[in-house]
Amino acid sequence: MSPRIYTSPFPDVPVDHCSLFTKLFRSRGRNDVGGHPESWTAYVDAASGTGLTRAQVKTLSLSFAYGLRDHPATRPLTKRGDTVLLFSPNSLAWPIVLYGSVAAGLRCTLANTAYTSHELGFQYKDSAAKLVLTYEENIGVVMKMFEEQGYSNAEARKRIVVLKRDLRWAGGPAVSALPEVAGLVSLEDLLSRGVLDREETFEGEAAHETVYLCYSSGTTGNPKGVETTHQNMTTLVDIIVKFPLPPGDAPMLGILPFYHIYGIANLLHHPFYIGVPVVIQTRFDPEQFCANIQNYKVAFACIVPPVLVALARHPAVDSYDLSSLQYMCSGAAPLGADLVKMVQSRLLSKRKRGSTCLITQGYGLTETSPSTHMLAFDVCDERVGSIGQLFPTLKARIVADDDGLVDAEEGERGELWFQGPTIMKGYLGNPTATKHSLTPDRWFKTGDIAIRDKEGYYYIVDRKKELIKYKGFQVAPAELEAILLTHPDVADAAVIGVDDAKEATELPRAYVVHAHPSKVKAVQAKAAFEQSIVRWMETKVAKHKFLRGGVSVIDEVPKSAAGKILRRQLRDQAKAEVERG
Ligand code: AMP
Repeated sequence: MSPRIYTSPFPDVPVDHCSLFTKLFRSRGRNDVGGHPESWTAYVDAASGTGLTRAQVKTLSLSFAYGLRDHPATRPLTKRGDTVLLFSPNSLAWPIVLYGSVAAGLRCTLANTAYTSHELGFQYKDSAAKLVLTYEENIGVVMKMFEEQGYSNAEARKRIVVLKRDLRWAGGPAVSALPEVAGLVSLEDLLSRGVLDREETFEGEAAHETVYLCYSSGTTGNPKGVETTHQNMTTLVDIIVKFPLPPGDAPMLGILPFYHIYGIANLLHHPFYIGVPVVIQTRFDPEQFCANIQNYKVAFACIVPPVLVALARHPAVDSYDLSSLQYMCSGAAPLGADLVKMVQSRLLSKRKRGSTCLITQGYGLTETSPSTHMLAFDVCDERVGSIGQLFPTLKARIVADDDGLVDAEEGERGELWFQGPTIMKGYLGNPTATKHSLTPDRWFKTGDIAIRDKEGYYYIVDRKKELIKYKGFQVAPAELEAILLTHPDVADAAVIGVDDAKEATELPRAYVVHAHPSKVKAVQAKAAFEQSIVRWMETKVAKHKFLRGGVSVIDEVPKSAAGKILRRQLRDQAKAEVERG
């Protein structure tokens, strides 16, 4: 039987064959705003008010690229196709070093700033990175990572470029209060050497070369490097341009982490391409979020559901004028209708006149670069809960079996598959995982269960894959299980996600088998052991992977005959445990 293939209701977009850098700077901006695009403000540092125009971003990026090639320490590590690792919170320096690295023909791998040295070391090694671009407060973690990887202090110091929060591109030596920063290559140093004439080109077939390596666990196993190509990203830029943003040139707020592909695509590329300024906030803080909306008259924010939880409850919402905020788009996790209504009515109650903020959601994965759907703002109230219609140029299937032989009937549930020019090349150096996720004709299996209604609106109703999402961040059960098995008293372990409706997130919860079950027979001993595992894990992993859903001792981890953990059974068990209190 031939597969039931769904297309988008929107016309296809052209697929470019050029470098991402070339594409982003080729933009002519929006039709509805006057002025010359190069003089438009592109990014503003929320804390200091310092802004960069598009022209400055271009010159600084090309200066960074020149500096990387000119500096004797970085020159041997930054040949075309080499990989650099960015390990920094959001800052004005971010777009400069990201675009500068792309202009130099490098691949960028982006790491979560909460990572421990061990987690960072995994990504550094797995991505074959040669240089770490980091900000000064993270130098300690980076140096520890190099030490654990067997580098001498002198060797490690050659592989670091230090960024600062306050970007001083006008030159002059970097001044730092931290002694360990002295003598390291600094951003200022690289920016002061010259300007590259033009970026590395990626025309024709070269457009399929990898530009970003974000990490995702996919449907199973440990985090893997997702090979996102120039063409994946340039196509997405053309796709999201079709979706209207607030009219005028009111800014967007950049609170999502830039090290996640959601942040790169929606906060760095898209607004830059169309000429909307982004006010960069280092990390989410409800008070700062509200202050920045008021002070910069922000019209649009890309968010994750826990931001809405804060807006529904936090007292700061009553202390600031948020009337400029017209639109919010949530992503990275399911968005609940009740939460949307709660926030909308709270914001409306504070407005003297006019309508409330429209809140919609998008959907996508690191592997799909990322967005495949967004519910249009003009229907977001009537279709709340849907992720919208399929983006142009993509194809979708809703598959009812594991092998893709049977498609779900219209309106019925199945696994969502995609095909199109924004689908990743594969997982870096991992043909087995790539083969598991991409069929020979390049259908990508999301691991999410969806329904598509008659009008072509999609709904995510469940997840088939192992993945847990804590506040939009990925937590791979296999990674936590492997760590638990290194504990001397743990004989076996399984990790699942449990829902926390109050915080609009999932929490990782572990089921463990004690190596000496007689030691945890007594109720108190069992509770003490469970608590000790929660605390022990906090010494091993980044914050978003903490076992906030708790630990429970069981006699045996339920497994199939083939040895696969029966996660559904554990999830049901967890639900029953929560209901019992
Ligand atoms: P990531 O690769 O970190 O972006 O994670 C992708 C996963 O996040 C998807 O496979 C979904 O499980 C989940 N996700 C993203 N957006 C949504 C959404 N709007 N609703 C439900 N789940 C989502």
